[in-house]
Amino acid sequence: MKKFIEKELARLEASGLRRTLRDIDGPQGSSVIVNGKRMILLCSNDYLGLANHPLVKQAAIDAVSEYGFGAGASRLVSGNMEAHRMLEYRIARFKSTESALVFNSGYHANLGCITAIAGRDTAIFSDRLNHASIVDACLLSRAEVKRYPNRDVDSLERLLKKTRLKKRLIVTDGVFSMDGTIAPLPDIISLLERYNATLFIDDAHATGVLGASGRGTLEHFNISHQNIIQMGTLGKAFGAFGAFIAGDSDLIELLINKARPFIYTTALPPSVCAAASKAIDLVDSDPGLLMRLKERRKQLHDGLSGCGLDTMGSATPIIPILLKDARKTVEASCALMERGVFIQAIRPPTVPDGTSRLRATVTAGHSATEIDTVISAIKKVLSA
Ligand code: PMP
Repeated sequence: MKKFIEKELARLEASGLRRTLRDIDGPQGSSVIVNGKRMILLCSNDYLGLANHPLVKQAAIDAVSEYGFGAGASRLVSGNMEAHRMLEYRIARFKSTESALVFNSGYHANLGCITAIAGRDTAIFSDRLNHASIVDACLLSRAEVKRYPNRDVDSLERLLKKTRLKKRLIVTDGVFSMDGTIAPLPDIISLLERYNATLFIDDAHATGVLGASGRGTLEHFNISHQNIIQMGTLGKAFGAFGAFIAGDSDLIELLINKARPFIYTTALPPSVCAAASKAIDLVDSDPGLLMRLKERRKQLHDGLSGCGLDTMGSATPIIPILLKDARKTVEASCALMERGVFIQAIRPPTVPDGTSRLRATVTAGHSATEIDTVISAIKKVLSA
């Protein structure tokens, strides 16, 4: 095994694909300290700047005082605490669904829900660019998995037509996390009745971000349908941690009984749930948060596409800059760091070969001046 590990690390290094952790100091925010130097941060999914919000932090502190820190065990084992119940009530109201169930992460939510509702008798239709947790969930479910090209509804329909299995689940990211594009939900939803299918939307990057009040992709398109299951995360726009499935009460009852990452994991600390509940309240009570996010997103997107950079059709605060070559992308990321701008280089296997990119994420916490600084640094580095 030791030999394999050494060889594998050397292979990753030689192909420019070896990842390393970069140490930072201080909380998440519009800027962070990297190697003692303050840098504008464009790598965080803290879209609304809530991860370090005083009221979110206070909610966590108050909950630690009231409930202690750990949850003790899985909720089925050591009891269903008030902070979890309140959060689920809050989420169901936010998403306008009958019910909701909190999971410890988005990875758990996707794995737990998809494996609970799909099995050998199920055909899953999965967008090729879906998140890794969906890919893993599909594999674990043992369903017949058919992958369709990214956002290609015609191909999806061809696959649906050919399928003999009666139980059908279409799975798509609401927002594609490496491209910043939005799934064509109206077209996908138009297939649901015709092909007797259910749609599972991973709204990790849309919850708190898309739609007039941050409800996600369904609100963005102003649509609804009864055959839809929504997943959302609490660690991105809500600045906390964890995730949820929102849907009808029967679905949630089934997940409590069958979703293994719910049943066999110690529950989230109650303070995390209380912080997430406060973040949802803030999204509802302060529409300025979402407005600022949309303004800053437009500023960065217009600035980059205005100077001819390929932002890959991004329509969200995730703005990629396609450079294609992995090594060139890493070099650009390093050169930007020298100018005080922290943007991650995204390479295979996270994205397909030949599509390496810088991936910038804008937040409501960035100032207009910070975004201007970022645009001029990117222009300088990429024209050098
Ligand atoms: N789905 C998508 C589309 C994501 O981007 C992520 C996180 N990167 C997840 C699921 C997993 O969420 P979490 O970080 O809460 O595990």
